[in-house]
Amino acid sequence: MKIAIIGAGLSGLSCAHELERYGISPDVYEDLDFIGDREPHVTAVLEIIERPMFDVLNYFKQKCHLDIKPHNTIKKLTHNAPNIKRVVKGSNLGYFFMRGKSEQSVKQQIYRQLKHPHILFGKKPDYKELAKAYDFVVIANGCPEITKALGCWEELISGWVKGAIVQGDFNTQELILWINRKYCKNGYAYLTPVSNREASLLLFIPHVDKAGIDYYWSRFFEVENLQYGIIEEFSIEHFSGAVYPHKVDNIYLVGGAGGAISPFLGFGQVNSITMGVLAAQSMVEGLDFEKLIKRFVGKNNSLYEFRKAFNGLSNKGFHNIINFVTLPIIKQLIYYTRFNVVKYSAWALELKNKIFFELKK
Ligand SMILES: Cc1cc2nc3c(=O)[nH]c(=O)nc-3n(C[C@H](O)[C@H](O)[C@H](O)COP(=O)(O)OP(=O)(O)OC[C@H]3O[C@@H](n4cnc5c(N)ncnc54)[C@H](O)[C@@H]3O)c2cc1C
Repeated sequence: MKIAIIGAGLSGLSCAHELERYGISPDVYEDLDFIGDREPHVTAVLEIIERPMFDVLNYFKQKCHLDIKPHNTIKKLTHNAPNIKRVVKGSNLGYFFMRGKSEQSVKQQIYRQLKHPHILFGKKPDYKELAKAYDFVVIANGCPEITKALGCWEELISGWVKGAIVQGDFNTQELILWINRKYCKNGYAYLTPVSNREASLLLFIPHVDKAGIDYYWSRFFEVENLQYGIIEEFSIEHFSGAVYPHKVDNIYLVGGAGGAISPFLGFGQVNSITMGVLAAQSMVEGLDFEKLIKRFVGKNNSLYEFRKAFNGLSNKGFHNIINFVTLPIIKQLIYYTRFNVVKYSAWALELKNKIFFELKK
């Protein structure tokens, strides 16, 4: 079976790895001339969002056949909203993962697990030509460009992320989050430590342009009175969309190109890796890809309900939410049980919207 993959990112490399397990060595076309990310940063995966998954590292091992080491375990979550700061502590609230160009980056880790990598660097092929030359083509380019051309993309959110590697004093197991309409609008900012002395700081805002994110970045530093030294900065466009179908003729859409990125926080690592693996299984075993990924699509639909509810909140609303989720009994339920927060809260939000709609009629 001849398979081409466009993009040697999380989903593309995971797909290649799974194909190797079936004895297939795909051709992977990569625009860059290295494996990794242009933007240096540390990402987070939160346990409460991934439920009912028990432990994401174990999940990668058991279901994706990949051994991925985190950069650190998250043991402290600090929520900042206007006039309120609340801390949640736990033995495992999630993980930090290294991205960028380093040897520890998730992409490098997956790449090293390939036995016969065939990566064609510096290549940006025409997907239509590949579709004629190969049995299957996997679009794993991390963006909606080709998905849109195929007519399968419905935009949910687009915006910009501004990030930096900053210097300061950090707890390597602490994730810090900020929400405040003064500088995040409907988005949020977060800090993920690289070490005790360095961290990555990111601000994500939906529905702004490049100039807008620069403006709000300065506001963020001003309002929060941040005194970090900046080593390196970047900004990048960020998209989240609903994709259907995920397979068009012999073309599969996976990862960011396949709608893996959550419309709530913009996270997508677990979904992207999973979609790459499931696409490989679908191609080789002739399984229905849409059925295989149903759970992940459903989850992003639920997270979209969160996004819509969040969009309507004022700073007072942000304050109240942080206050509510950290009330002792609620905190206990949300953080220290296996309660599926995303599923049931989205269901409650949908119900609330329906009742509201009926009352307005
Ligand atoms: C700044 C930032 C912070 C993030 N933080 C988090 C986080 O904390 N937690 C989380 O879960 N997720 C996070 N995400 C999202 C996560 O990184 C993505 O969901 C995930 O990387 C998507 O995987 P992918 O395989 O679709 O694309 P990528 O991993 O982006 O890989 C795409 C690859 O395709 C290549 N490519 C692009 N176009 C072409 C082309 N035409 N031809 C050939 N190659 C091409 C690119 O160079 C790249 O190597 C973040 C994303 C960004 C940008």
